[in-house]
Amino acid sequence: MHRGKQIAEAPPRHEVSVQEVIELSGGVYLLRTDRPDCEYSPGDCVSIFSCDGLESRPYSLCSDVHASDLLFLFRRFDEGRVSKELAALLPGDRLELSPPFGWFRPAEERFGPKIYCATGTGIAPFLSARLSGAPAPAMLMWGGRDEANLPMPELFPERRIAISPQRVNRFFGEIDIDEQPQVYACGHQSMIETLQQQLIARGLPRENFHSEIFFR
Ligand SMILES: Cc1cc2nc3c(=O)[nH]c(=O)nc-3n(C[C@H](O)[C@H](O)[C@H](O)COP(=O)(O)OP(=O)(O)OC[C@H]3O[C@@H](n4cnc5c(N)ncnc54)[C@H](O)[C@@H]3O)c2cc1C
Repeated sequence: MHRGKQIAEAPPRHEVSVQEVIELSGGVYLLRTDRPDCEYSPGDCVSIFSCDGLESRPYSLCSDVHASDLLFLFRRFDEGRVSKELAALLPGDRLELSPPFGWFRPAEERFGPKIYCATGTGIAPFLSARLSGAPAPAMLMWGGRDEANLPMPELFPERRIAISPQRVNRFFGEIDIDEQPQVYACGHQSMIETLQQQLIARGLPRENFHSEIFFR
């Protein structure tokens, strides 16, 4: 029997080429890369590695799962390690990504009207769902620093927009629990916790609430 130290195998990485990085407004960017040989579902993330390959951060894919490229929506943090590097990428630069992973499934088929709720770049998995062919949700509630930071608003014909992530909370009372909606929330932890507490206190079954925290 082998009694030596077990050496963990490094998880596989894909190398992709950057196609473009576009600043939408106020430090929010779209990053488009080649697509490696991988499958994913709306709601999946990949870890994107820093240029020196030593650190990584998860980013939600916001592209059409059938497309030949990958799209990401991210905010640049000036004090941050990885997002600052992503904002400075140029076409042709190389990036390392983990294979896609995730459990948040905003495009899944479930009984009841869907409500999407997001702060800032937390809209990314909902963009992927819509671009991949999922029907429009009964309602999108989104809070961001600037209305221009919401890409492709036409994908969400029924929407409530708050010009501040915190102020999205004011729309929560509009969710009709009697309709037994499926609620999908993504973005800042405080928004997600507030929404979950309010809806469960009003009688929403726990299994009707789905969430993905980007920022604590
Ligand atoms: C499952 C998952 C999916 C994610 N998907 C996305 C996505 O699609 N798009 C996206 O933009 N982000 C996403 N994130 C967040 C992302 O992974 C990084 O945490 C974020 O980009 C900051 O990384 P960084 O290396 O630039 O900053 P770090 O080096 O991790 O942070 C360093 C400093 O940056 C500042 N900072 C970082 N985050 C914040 C914050 N929220 N508020 C204020 N200051 C902050 C602080 O000063 C902090 O000390 C996701 C996170 C998770 C867990």
